[in-house]
Amino acid sequence: MEKLSKRSVPFFKHNLQEEDFLELQDTLKSVFLTTGPKTKRFEEQLASYLGAKHGIACTSWTTAAFLVLKAWGIGPGDEVIVPALTFIATPNIVLHCGAKPVFVDSEALTGNIDVEQIEKAITPDTKAIIPVHLYGQMVDMEKLSAIAKKHKLKVLEDCAHCIEGTRDGYRPGQKSDAACFSFYATKNITCGEGGAIVTSDSELNEKVRLLRLHGMSLSASDRYTSTYKHWDMLALGYKANLSDIQSALLIHQLERIDTVLKKKEELCQFYEKKLSAAGVPFPKVLPGSQSARHLFTFWAPRGKRDEMLTGLQEAGIGVAVNFRSVPTLKFYRERYGYGPGKFPVAEKIGEQTITVPMYVSLSQEDASYVADQIIALYKRLQPQPASSGELTASL
Ligand SMILES: *Cc1c(COP(=O)(O)O)cnc(C)c1O
Repeated sequence: MEKLSKRSVPFFKHNLQEEDFLELQDTLKSVFLTTGPKTKRFEEQLASYLGAKHGIACTSWTTAAFLVLKAWGIGPGDEVIVPALTFIATPNIVLHCGAKPVFVDSEALTGNIDVEQIEKAITPDTKAIIPVHLYGQMVDMEKLSAIAKKHKLKVLEDCAHCIEGTRDGYRPGQKSDAACFSFYATKNITCGEGGAIVTSDSELNEKVRLLRLHGMSLSASDRYTSTYKHWDMLALGYKANLSDIQSALLIHQLERIDTVLKKKEELCQFYEKKLSAAGVPFPKVLPGSQSARHLFTFWAPRGKRDEMLTGLQEAGIGVAVNFRSVPTLKFYRERYGYGPGKFPVAEKIGEQTITVPMYVSLSQEDASYVADQIIALYKRLQPQPASSGELTASL
């Protein structure tokens, strides 16, 4: 095996601080370990940060978003529009409802769902659209919600990458029926595993709260805080409530989220400046957008991505791929018979994208090292002259 370099830059480091540990300790010393006062506090805080009426904390993005689709009654015979370039959870929840995910290609500049191509994917069976705010940059929700209104479709925003981003002054949850978040280990704020729904639709709030806990009419904290009352079962629900142990870790991370974003923005701008100067392409943040800067990705030369992944790892740099186009993955390929070229932009990005370390505790020295390694490898692997169809800095 080749000797690894002495420098090591991990892909991700969480940003838990002393105040988070104290909040957790307070919970561990209290009566409530399951969903109780800390979860309630976090739910109210998240809704208020986003300017929405209700927050509902769940065990993951996946359970949260699944509950929303169930509350809307989405099932067999229905279709839900999703981007081809996303994490598999986005289409998987549609399948778990018995419905069909209908993929839409990406826009070349950002990787986000190409809003212009949504309308032609709509059929009489379409019930909802799930836009994903990829890497933290919001989809054009003004345009998307106009299409949804015209065709009477529900909109669920996949905000697994974007709590703190804005576009033209609006935030996640403000131009849709519901927005779902992830607090998985590597997300913007984390408690290891967790998720939430934010909505201003009071009827949806009541339905998903019921579905979150077996369809029970009273939660554990309702039952605990007054004299015993019988609960009833009002619907066939699931088990997806977030515990106070997890919520305790989220409360102060959410308070710090805008300060952390400033630091991440600086790091991303540093990367962008260095890579632009060297002609290395990457997705663009559009005017009017403040990306939540969840992930920093760039595009390797065509056909050289995996070589570049290896090269970066040999230089001690943690990497990831976010994402390969979902319809190219075995399960979806075989289920729907998608051949190559069906979603050309998502496939191209999916074959060239690499995510590199970018988080609040990444030192300037490490960021410089990462940028230098990217540029050196890119120059070595770039075909001469650049072949046509290449993702280029001038896209
Ligand atoms: C992480 C992620 C999810 C799933 O989140 P979980 O909390 O792990 O269920 C969904 N969509 C996108 C785009 C993600 O990155």
